[in-house]
Amino acid sequence: MRTRSSGRTRANDRIRLAGPILDSNVFPIFPTHRRPSAMSRALLIATFALTSGCCHVGMGRIEPFSAAEYEAHIRERQSDYGPSFTVLVAAPFVVIGDGPRAWVKQDAAEVVEAASKMLKARFFRRDPAEIIDVLMLQTDASYNAYAGSSVGAPATPYGYYSPCKRAIYSNMSLGNGTLVHEMVHAFMDANFPASPVWFNEGLGSLYEHTDLDSGDLRGRNNWRLPGLKKAIAKGQTIPLEDLFAKGRIAFYGGDVGLHYAMARYVLYYLQENGHLEAYYQQFVAHQDDDPTGRATLEKVLGEKDLRAFQTKWERFVAALPDP
Ligand SMILES: [Zn+2]
Repeated sequence: MRTRSSGRTRANDRIRLAGPILDSNVFPIFPTHRRPSAMSRALLIATFALTSGCCHVGMGRIEPFSAAEYEAHIRERQSDYGPSFTVLVAAPFVVIGDGPRAWVKQDAAEVVEAASKMLKARFFRRDPAEIIDVLMLQTDASYNAYAGSSVGAPATPYGYYSPCKRAIYSNMSLGNGTLVHEMVHAFMDANFPASPVWFNEGLGSLYEHTDLDSGDLRGRNNWRLPGLKKAIAKGQTIPLEDLFAKGRIAFYGGDVGLHYAMARYVLYYLQENGHLEAYYQQFVAHQDDDPTGRATLEKVLGEKDLRAFQTKWERFVAALPDP
């Protein structure tokens, strides 16, 4: 992993070590420095989980955006954000950053554009139906100012995707891993809008730590592993069939850290065994008959019984080296 002289993380990584996050299409805003009560948090999550569907951009497009479309979008955003922001194309996104221009250009090319190409080559045929802005915010203060709202700072300090605002927000002071995670959500919306939450978050989380510098999008072990290994050791995981069946409220509202970690490492297992792309293609093809992806997973892996597979998968995860 390369680092800039400033010490800022260069590779696609998330610095944070543990704890649950809420990102993706859920967009709860909590007042800064005040932890919401369990009930108000649950209410917010429920409200956004139920209403965010109307914000979705819709099935994506095969035809790339034209140069004229990008130019018009850039002109508009440059005027909105002002001269202290660098605004440029990282197809199919437009990057808007308040860091040094060279850094914004480098992250646009080496993270956003490079990861987009790899994600498209591997999974996603369609671009988002509308241009999605990628806000790269250099400090906590600018992240809170631009990614928050009049009510306060965003619920997550790292970043999130807002289909309503057609934007990805990333706090670059905490690394750039969030960028690729949230880009997966934008592409998922455009290509597999009916994806269950576990798969959407699993794939986003898988790619929040890769080594893009090597030209590969392989997800690597990250900070979600130790907590998952602990849960496995204590027998505190949940049945995979329950994870797969969780809707938005259950996924984000329960033991959310465990849900993210289990989802990530199921897809990590598929990746390591060479089945991830095939699983995605088959899952999309059979989504009407198998909306949770359970039957498709059994088929792709040649496993007859998901519970027996879970035992095998937990042994695999328990033996992974800590990051
Ligand atoms: Zn996510």
